[in-house]
Amino acid sequence: MPLDIVPSVCPHDCPSACALAVERLGGRRIGRVRGAAAQAYTRGVVCAKVARYVERQHHPDRLSQALRRVGEKGAGHDAFRPISWDAALDEIAERLTCAAQRYGSESVWPYYYAGTMGLVQRDGINRLRHAMRYSREDLTICNALSDAGWLAGVGVKRGVDGREIAKSDLIVVWGGNPAATQVNVMTHIAAARRERGARLVVVDPYRTATAEQADLHLAPLPGTDGALACAVMHVLLKKGYADRAYMARYTDDPAGLEAHLATRDPAWAAGITGLSEDEIVGFARLYGRTKRSYIRVGYGFSRSRNGAAQLFAVSCLPAVTGAWAYEGGGALYSNLGLVELDRTLIEGLDLLDPATRILDQSRIGAVLTGDRRDLGNGPPVSALLIQNTNPMVVAPESGLVSRGFARSDLFVCVHEQFMTETAAMADIVLPATTFLEHDDIYLGGAHTYLQLGRAVLPAHGECRSNHDVICGLAQRLGADHPGFAMSALGLIDRTLRMSGLPDLEHFPEDGRLDCCPPFATGHFLDGFAHADGKFHFRADWSAIGPTFARLPAFPDHVAVIDDGDSERPFRLVAAPSRSFLNTTFNNTPSSLAREGRPTALVHPEALARLGLDDGDQVRISNRRGSLVLHAQGFEGMQKRVVIVEGLWPNHAFEEGIGINLLTSADPGLPRGGAVFHDTSIWLKPA
Ligand code: SF4
Repeated sequence: MPLDIVPSVCPHDCPSACALAVERLGGRRIGRVRGAAAQAYTRGVVCAKVARYVERQHHPDRLSQALRRVGEKGAGHDAFRPISWDAALDEIAERLTCAAQRYGSESVWPYYYAGTMGLVQRDGINRLRHAMRYSREDLTICNALSDAGWLAGVGVKRGVDGREIAKSDLIVVWGGNPAATQVNVMTHIAAARRERGARLVVVDPYRTATAEQADLHLAPLPGTDGALACAVMHVLLKKGYADRAYMARYTDDPAGLEAHLATRDPAWAAGITGLSEDEIVGFARLYGRTKRSYIRVGYGFSRSRNGAAQLFAVSCLPAVTGAWAYEGGGALYSNLGLVELDRTLIEGLDLLDPATRILDQSRIGAVLTGDRRDLGNGPPVSALLIQNTNPMVVAPESGLVSRGFARSDLFVCVHEQFMTETAAMADIVLPATTFLEHDDIYLGGAHTYLQLGRAVLPAHGECRSNHDVICGLAQRLGADHPGFAMSALGLIDRTLRMSGLPDLEHFPEDGRLDCCPPFATGHFLDGFAHADGKFHFRADWSAIGPTFARLPAFPDHVAVIDDGDSERPFRLVAAPSRSFLNTTFNNTPSSLAREGRPTALVHPEALARLGLDDGDQVRISNRRGSLVLHAQGFEGMQKRVVIVEGLWPNHAFEEGIGINLLTSADPGLPRGGAVFHDTSIWLKPA
């Protein structure tokens, strides 16, 4: 069989957006997937799960036909019968029309998220939403809290080019586990260690695969990173490590910050974080004496009620030492704000009616079960059109989400690649293409490239792309917008032109446009993105979200977390696993083999107190519900911490529901955001 190598882009919900080199076999199948060597961030490296994409692409369970449910909700494949695409699209259009006629257009809720990060196939659903005046969706599951925290200080969602990690003398990975979830970061760290003798510090509540490779690992209690950052700044200011000339020139209120931090000393932070004073001071000294220090800011510690304040506090560190000014210095949270793409055509923003209600995606359980506040005192949601997400597993408060989906009066259409838990609750299921079967364009959070990914395989079975489905429905619903008459490539071409970027004819032949700004811009030496051009130590939370009252202006520990009590003494972190990505890959053989089974990592002393051994079953619970997992003793964390990695399929649990049964849908401050790692639980032998 002839083998050729074709370029592509990883579409998954991961900042790396790797440039791929895909082995194509006989035009219809793929073999090994590798990282593209010529793309300077990917540098030929991809994670193991995408290297084995063949397992997912050609999985025997891929959906290949449109289906109508004829049996019980949630009963799986056997409850569905094939129907034609035309019959399916006609029925969906009719049901959406009926819902809108009965309750108004806002009773239809198109619901999507990050199953693909391609701008056309992910965001095109918004064009239909705006054209039909369906309810809007507040995208809070992943980055509402982290964005808020970063924007408070820096003012724009970009940071120092990730390739500069290789030129750093100290890399701090704060709240992330790139060895498992973002492998490219480790490539650049390895280069810095090899070529410059750089040190690696990891801040994470447990000894992750990344922490295992670190020179120093700090494991604060979940939700206390803000206190650690404040105490580090206290030491920097007290011990002569602050760059006062930099602060005077580039920050808004250095004197105010110093006065505020006077009482946030290591003893104060030790009491909150559970770290020792020596650990805090040692880290502060290391950070303070290294000018080329680069903080790779992860999402983990933002997934907390105080997550925005925590991330803001960490972002202040390089503004105290002036590390921003040095090559290999500064910080990166995400570069998704680097390229200003005009999304009007893709998302139909010209049709957006700001008066249309907006529903919080993290609170889908409350929305579907009729919480009046969540519904904005408007009509119930009576029809859902879902692409690119599996809220039955990924949304918090799964118990409530399940109850919502079980409503007999709710019409659900799911367009998916597999029969997910959410698809199993649908009335109509449509088979979706993968990124290898459709065209799209991708930004990357971790790098500076805008990348084009063209279809390299024919569609599997009768699968259609998200764009095709949205256009097919638009036609039946009478939705009017030029974007519905264009191909995906046509939309991309026009969007590039509208954004002042090279169109498809002039786009780099390899599909990778490096949008890296000049050094002074990348390092904010020509100003941060606030009106005064300064980094803000004094955050204006009121400009970011409505629930700002409990957030102090200066960086601090904000004690609004679910810190537990004698009933619920343990702090649960529902962390990502190496081989799943949200619920993607949690059905491929090699991922399942590597992850084993749902497991709670528990400190050996806690395990012994419960009279349990490794491998015994343990029940973890709070007022939202209760789950049984296998326990494993693990020393690399504080005794109150329990870690459960991976979004397992619901059927992997005895009671048929997964870890988000226990997580809260309380919105984080100041503008919402899911608080997946801010959960107190109790622990008992099962
Ligand atoms: S590291 Fe992330 S972007 Fe790269 S291949 Fe894996 S999932 Fe995709």
